[in-house]
Amino acid sequence: MTEEFKLDIRNISKTYGNGVRALDEVSLTINKGMFGLLGPNGAGKSTLMRSIATLQAVDKGTMALGEIDVLKDHDSIRRILGYLPQDFGVYANVSAHNLLSHFATLKGITDRRQRNETVDRLLHKTNLWNVRKKKLGSFSGGMKQRFGVAQALIGDPRLIIVDEPTAGLDPEERNRFLNLLSEIGENVIVILSTHIVEDVSEVCNSMAIISEGRVLRTGSPAETIAELEGKIWKMAVERGDLPALRDKFRIVGERLSAGKTYIHVYSDQSPGDEFEQSSADLRDVYFTTLRQVN
Ligand code: ADP
Repeated sequence: MTEEFKLDIRNISKTYGNGVRALDEVSLTINKGMFGLLGPNGAGKSTLMRSIATLQAVDKGTMALGEIDVLKDHDSIRRILGYLPQDFGVYANVSAHNLLSHFATLKGITDRRQRNETVDRLLHKTNLWNVRKKKLGSFSGGMKQRFGVAQALIGDPRLIIVDEPTAGLDPEERNRFLNLLSEIGENVIVILSTHIVEDVSEVCNSMAIISEGRVLRTGSPAETIAELEGKIWKMAVERGDLPALRDKFRIVGERLSAGKTYIHVYSDQSPGDEFEQSSADLRDVYFTTLRQVN
């Protein structure tokens, strides 16, 4: 694997038949490691993920993964792509081992011994070895997601796409899942699409914020947070006062802490005596970006 191996997305646009412009001149360079694609529902994340995964055509633009033309050479991309689907409900009556073996066959690992080796290795890696004989239908949300990772890793992919993976996971399952992903991200490109800011701040070394089909900001979480340092101010407020305060200040977030409501305001200088300076975090970055206040 060379250092230059990267996904280069240039001026991708997509308008659906109903007139919704889901992607509008999207350009991104994605290197090895964990990349977070962060945006609210409807931002265009799934459309972009499906386009990269060759499941859907775009209207305009180019995409290259290393030397491969993603939009033309579907076979080559599919050989090195791992895609984590949302739901395995349809396979509820199959054991984890048998289903993984089935997917391995579909991915072209027809040699039985090689297939068994692959399946066993992935069951260990995703911590599912002890439950390999259990049916998928009996799995918790976190176990299903880890099975999804095992399935996505068949054939040693170099690009892994994970679409909205942590919704519905309890904190422990979520932690386990994100740890597993970041372990994988040491060697390949992992794109994690999510609307949950913490997914990105916890595991991504690089990210893009998208909304209404457009890329609004790119960078590492740390860099983008550093740009806001000194410009976020907070004040404890009564909830009933919020509408009036929204008219008066550029509020970029409301937080609850120990039962109190705080507003975060973006401003170069102190917005008033009642405010104190707050350290910035990725939520501040996300909401200043979405509300385009800086
Ligand atoms: P996200 O994954 O960020 O929630 P999507 O890519 O699913 O965003 O959707 C982007 C926009 O495109 C939304 O306005 C959505 O309603 C619209 N959209 C998505 N899929 C289709 C489709 N098949 N036909 C028409 N509109 C669609």
